[in-house]
Amino acid sequence: MRFVDEAEIVIAAGSGGNGCIAFRREKYVPKGGPSGGDGGRGGSILVRADNRLTTLLDLRYRQRIEAQRGEHGRGKDQYGHGGEDTTIRVPIGTLVKDAQTGETLADLKVDGQEVLVARGGGGGLGNIHFTTSTRQAPRTATEGKPGETRRLALELRLLADVGVVGFPNAGKSSLVARLSAARPKIADYPFTTLQPHLGVVRLDRGASFVIADVPGIIEGAHKGVGLGARFLRHLSRTGTLVHLIDLAAPGERDPLEDISTIEAELEKSEVPVANKTRILVGNKIDLPEARKRLETLRVELAARGKTILAISTATGEGLPELVRHIAKELRRAAEQAEATPDGTEPTPPNDAR
Ligand code: GDP
Ligand code: MG
Repeated sequence: MRFVDEAEIVIAAGSGGNGCIAFRREKYVPKGGPSGGDGGRGGSILVRADNRLTTLLDLRYRQRIEAQRGEHGRGKDQYGHGGEDTTIRVPIGTLVKDAQTGETLADLKVDGQEVLVARGGGGGLGNIHFTTSTRQAPRTATEGKPGETRRLALELRLLADVGVVGFPNAGKSSLVARLSAARPKIADYPFTTLQPHLGVVRLDRGASFVIADVPGIIEGAHKGVGLGARFLRHLSRTGTLVHLIDLAAPGERDPLEDISTIEAELEKSEVPVANKTRILVGNKIDLPEARKRLETLRVELAARGKTILAISTATGEGLPELVRHIAKELRRAAEQAEATPDGTEPTPPNDAR
């Protein structure tokens, strides 16, 4: 199974500056020689892998990216400055393709790896280059060359950073939908009836994470097939689980029991989830009965040394706190994973970032 994040952008490298036609003017020299400088080269466009990014979300909002043009040459033998290069940052694992030809330009696999995707145009020549023995005052210069333009297709295979588990109707899909700034495409998903809902959650400073509604943890358990378990395998190594509880579940369903049932399913799942962080979250606190349940549950959980966050996907209450909490957990897990590169959780080879 793969989640694919995609972005298509048009890029335009800078054109070169024009060469200049100028002549030296000195007080006592009526006609000096040519002094028109060359135009500067246009800026190029590069794509660079950056380990601080996890999705292509930012590029969906920047559909055309241009590099600076080169300065024109000037008189007194002055050359135009080159235009600055523009670097587009993408997550590690991004495949860079020419959208028109489908040609793969680069598969950026390590932090800092970069590829030049559009070359800036060369600067034109100033008239200082066109003097010959018979032509001492050339009125010739050339124009800068246009920069390359291209349509780029970027593709990133995603692993979910956060999985939402819980009973049917707990509000898993609502939560993912509510937090999502964008929906990645789901490729090769083998279970047609249990599609995960996937969303990219935006944080500040361009950071983001991928959250997925894990289907069938409980449904699958009844049928004796670990669909959810197979899904969990695809949570990234640093993955965190949000354990969503329906605080307004009808009848006498006990949230504490729900929590243990799901914990038990996770234990049985043969996936090394034991070392994933679980965040307990109670949903639907917009309803008075849910708020009441929350009070008692808080006390019962506190006795077991656990805490619970409370949210409403309907009103949005508690969601900013939840996102902050998740972001903090992911940072912590990432630091830990970096400290122990040979961690116990294998990542399936084809899904590796
Ligand atoms: P899932 O089965 O866990 O994916 O749950 P859904 O997201 O499909 O939600 C189940 C039902 O609960 C739907 O009717 C939602 O409208 C409702 N629901 C979800 N979140 C809230 C909430 O915060 N407050 C209220 N009152 N209803 C909610
Ligand atoms: Mg659902």
